[in-house]
Amino acid sequence: MPELHALFGGTFDPVHYGHLRPVEALAQLVGLKKVTLLPNNVPPHRPQPEASPAQRVAMLQCAIAGRPLFDIDQRELARTTPSWTVTTLESLRAERGPRQPLGFIIGQDSLLSLAKWHRWQDLLSLCHLLVCKRPGYATRMETPEMQRWLEQHLAQQVQDLQQKPAGYIWLADTPLYNISATEIRQRRHQGLPCDDLLPPSVIDYIDRTGLYRN
Ligand code: ATP
Repeated sequence: MPELHALFGGTFDPVHYGHLRPVEALAQLVGLKKVTLLPNNVPPHRPQPEASPAQRVAMLQCAIAGRPLFDIDQRELARTTPSWTVTTLESLRAERGPRQPLGFIIGQDSLLSLAKWHRWQDLLSLCHLLVCKRPGYATRMETPEMQRWLEQHLAQQVQDLQQKPAGYIWLADTPLYNISATEIRQRRHQGLPCDDLLPPSVIDYIDRTGLYRN
């Protein structure tokens, strides 16, 4: 069986330690060699990120320099249609073949809102869901049906994730980081420091380009 490969989607406006550190801890816990970051395309009718797609990629590039665990896949940015995770996973599954174990990483907040995702019922036929803790979010699902769905799919042991190509949910015991991109953008607009919230290389990029200034 090929090694588990993990994918991590997000807006990354900007990427921060609340993205990077839980995922680095997850990689240790699960034995991941590679995590592919998937910056998403925000459709025109939705509130747009402050940073352009090229700036979000540039910030990811700054962040992963010296972090060999990560690489970047820009396929969602190349779309003109919304970048639905399920569609991206279908294209990755077609490329990697049916036997490749794939894990899609999300934070606890995303798990709680999963029932709002396009074709969410199809996700587990394409990948495992690897869930990182996030402070301030409930640990139980919002409805008894969703809680039952979660419990039915929980992996019992980490090895399960290697033994099937998709289908399990893994609630990882990752460290808590109370950081959000929203807070970083607000702090920058107020001229407040963000030193402990994101890598210095990303702060340098933000300083140089004047992002999140006004
Ligand atoms: P925003 O504040 O702009 O909504 P965000 O900080 O939540 O952004 P996203 O790019 O939307 O970041 O998140 C991408 C993924 O990272 C999501 O699955 C989200 O749950 C997860 N994530 C973001 N911040 C954290 C955090 N502090 N701890 C754990 N997971 C996180």
